[in-house]
Amino acid sequence: MRRRIIFEKRTKSQPSQDSQSSNFTQEKNLFRLDKKLKVAYNLVRQSVLFKRLVGILDQQEIDFLRAMYSRNVIRLGKYSFRPNAGVAQGSVISPYLFDIFIEDLFKEIVLNKKLVPMQNVLAYADDVLVVCSGLGKLKDIIQTVEQWSNVNGMLLNRKKSAVVEFLPRYARSDVYRGQQIMGIPVETKYKYLGVWLNQKLNLDPQLVHIKRKSDFIRASLGPVLSKCSLGYRKNLWDLFVRPLFEFTLPIHTFEPAATRKDKLRRLVKYTFKSFCRISKTAPDVLIHRLCGYDVDNRGKTLCQEQRAKWQRRSEKWSRIYKEKINILDIFSMSEVYQEEVLLETENGGISLCKEIPAVGVEYINLMTKLCPWCPAKSIMNARHLRETHNKEFPEPLILFEQVRKEQSLIKGTRVARLLLAHKRIKKRVDLLNKFLVEASGNNNGV
Ligand SMILES: [Zn+2]
Repeated sequence: MRRRIIFEKRTKSQPSQDSQSSNFTQEKNLFRLDKKLKVAYNLVRQSVLFKRLVGILDQQEIDFLRAMYSRNVIRLGKYSFRPNAGVAQGSVISPYLFDIFIEDLFKEIVLNKKLVPMQNVLAYADDVLVVCSGLGKLKDIIQTVEQWSNVNGMLLNRKKSAVVEFLPRYARSDVYRGQQIMGIPVETKYKYLGVWLNQKLNLDPQLVHIKRKSDFIRASLGPVLSKCSLGYRKNLWDLFVRPLFEFTLPIHTFEPAATRKDKLRRLVKYTFKSFCRISKTAPDVLIHRLCGYDVDNRGKTLCQEQRAKWQRRSEKWSRIYKEKINILDIFSMSEVYQEEVLLETENGGISLCKEIPAVGVEYINLMTKLCPWCPAKSIMNARHLRETHNKEFPEPLILFEQVRKEQSLIKGTRVARLLLAHKRIKKRVDLLNKFLVEASGNNNGV
């Protein structure tokens, strides 16, 4: 099990104007502690779990689960036994059962000991994160976690746990790397639910991570990517690379440095181009339309959704525990909510790439080459071809739109539509290639 706990610590140091404006760090130093409890799923005591389910599930449902678990048998060769601990690995409800099991710990931290407010405890199945302030509180929480683990039969793996301190710019650190706090090592960065968080909570480590990971995936998918249609390449990008950016959106939205924000935008373009095998020189407008993924708008939308979610959660919490939590603490520091959130941009790219064959990419790439006829290095785009060489070639986007219109008119299968698109675009590609060959012949002649 992984448990991550962020400990936040208020400092006297003055944060600079452009230091982190994220929800965490305007005036605080933060510690994060990452704890791992090994094989957590296997250690859940079923008798305790079923007791905790009372009031959450119907009695019948609990009986059903109990009956199901009582029939679990683990076999090893000729030996077998019936386990009385652990939730089933691979079962879809296991993370939920685990959540219910571990909720008790959060109640202990939040309600009984009142160490941190509810919004400072974040958990996703066995990935848990707590934010608190001060070294004293940090130790209190570690102790609470430990006590809870002992009572509930969980093992705390101190070596695999880590504390990370988050600091405003220029603030002095209270702990150092390699130090241990109650046996838990201090780190300068950590990955939480796929997102790298460093001490400044900026995008840097995440940018490196995305670049490396997307390059690796692209290389692995290379044989497929070279063969399939543009639409399919985009699907694969959506499936494998887009989530990497989605996880990054919270940091991106709160990132104060314009240069880092820009780096992320460029990284979107870079990964999309390399997945679709579109040349590096392809214009941004084209990529933006084909990709249809706008990190800024998406980030704002997502943060607004999350805000609404926290609002609902806080209302529920106040109802159940008669205790108010102030979610504005989390969000008021951000300026993003003062702006109108745009909810569009998503679908344009999807519809444009869909059912465009690989030859479409070839067309894009030809249209971004340098013109072999002209000594002044000009890009061979539609305008250049028309104005200098009196040749009519549509911009890729316009061609794709024309093709899509034609596709929508024919009745037939996806293959038929792809073939039609291939035919239409291939014609242009052949003409362009002819134009290029003529140029090389011409140059050789001279
Ligand atoms: Zn030219």
